[in-house]
Amino acid sequence: MIYKRSSALFAKAEQVIPGGVNSPVRAFKAVGGTPIFVKEAKGAYLYDEDGNTLIDYINSWGPMILGHAYEPVVNAVIDKAKKGTSFGMPTEIETQIAELAVSMVPNIDKIRFVNSGTEACMSAVRLARGYTGKDKIIKFAGCYHGHSDSFLIQAGSGAVTFGSPNSPGVTEGTAKDTLLAKYNDINNVEALIEANKGEIACIIIEPVAGNMGCVPPKNNFLQQLRSLCDAHNILLIFDEVMTGFRLAQGGAQELFNVKADIVCFGKVIGGGLPVGAFAANNAIMNHLAPLGPVYQAGTLSGNPLAMAAGLAMLTELNNDKEIYTRLEEKTAYLHKGLADVLTQLNVTHTINRVGSMISVHFDETEVVDFDTAAKGNNETFKTFFHGMLNNGVYIAPSAFETWFITDALTYEDLDKTIAACHAVFS
Ligand code: PMP
Repeated sequence: MIYKRSSALFAKAEQVIPGGVNSPVRAFKAVGGTPIFVKEAKGAYLYDEDGNTLIDYINSWGPMILGHAYEPVVNAVIDKAKKGTSFGMPTEIETQIAELAVSMVPNIDKIRFVNSGTEACMSAVRLARGYTGKDKIIKFAGCYHGHSDSFLIQAGSGAVTFGSPNSPGVTEGTAKDTLLAKYNDINNVEALIEANKGEIACIIIEPVAGNMGCVPPKNNFLQQLRSLCDAHNILLIFDEVMTGFRLAQGGAQELFNVKADIVCFGKVIGGGLPVGAFAANNAIMNHLAPLGPVYQAGTLSGNPLAMAAGLAMLTELNNDKEIYTRLEEKTAYLHKGLADVLTQLNVTHTINRVGSMISVHFDETEVVDFDTAAKGNNETFKTFFHGMLNNGVYIAPSAFETWFITDALTYEDLDKTIAACHAVFS
């Protein structure tokens, strides 16, 4: 494929935007080469500035669960835009999407909308600290909860891809309140709680990790965290920015039947517009300003265009009872197809999958945490990435990311993807 125009556009962007991108992982630094500039997208396909067509497995890193430019969402945004794009005053649509989200997700009474997943997680932790009166938090190595200071401690995703899981600029004072645990290792979490008795406000976790590839919780790990939190008066925060409205209508809480105290959302809930949210029961949410003492705000929070996109998206997901089965079946088909090809061609690999999140790791070790995920960050991954791209398939340009399957993918697209994998390694 030719990327002449993308290269030229990237060179121009580099002059005025740091690294030429507004979010690091877009820059292709981990895999080499020039990032592709998108011209437009529809359904399962990206159309780039050089006229190439690519099957998209990133889907804006999750939001486009029904495919790009999904008409009900686009039309809702257009209709709203004609009536004014921001007021900084209450609008009815905020209550409508809040009511729908509360009806779809278990264990929440109230939800507050923000503008990104970062803001959702940052605010959730502040609320947990304010509610419990404790300072420390536990997070897991390889989990990413956005770029706010408390979370840039062995963070996953772009942070680890670019070798700055502990970013300069995060003060020692902030870092000391974030305790780091190993994903899927309950003894490790227990030891941290014992060593910091009475000081831990919350445990925040991606209930299915998606920022070190896709890593499922093993052996009732989430249930065990729930029990530890109950025993020690710690709030359990599920960061469902990836999993929310993706793994089930009620997200990971529903799928694994585990209750979280606070749930964070992003991606799907905004239908592709900048939206995040955090939610909990009345007792916790009533601690937020203006009802309670924990401050949190946003000029553009609950923005009408963003709420219109989110409401249209959640309405579609709420009305389509088969969507999650369809997504699961498509992803399972892809999983089997890729596994068969890689096995047949003697390519060492492990594939992880939960619902419509899937990742291919080029190592034989079972991937259960950050250390095992890191083994797949190797030359084979780079070969795979560029090979797939040359065959018209766009996957994340980092071994520390999950693929997001969209309902717009047809079985023909999946077959083309499996054939591309065969072409890369044969
Ligand atoms: N939490 C998780 C689990 C995420 O995957 C991300 C983004 N990939 C975030 C939080 C941060 O969201 P945003 O990029 O919208 O700030």
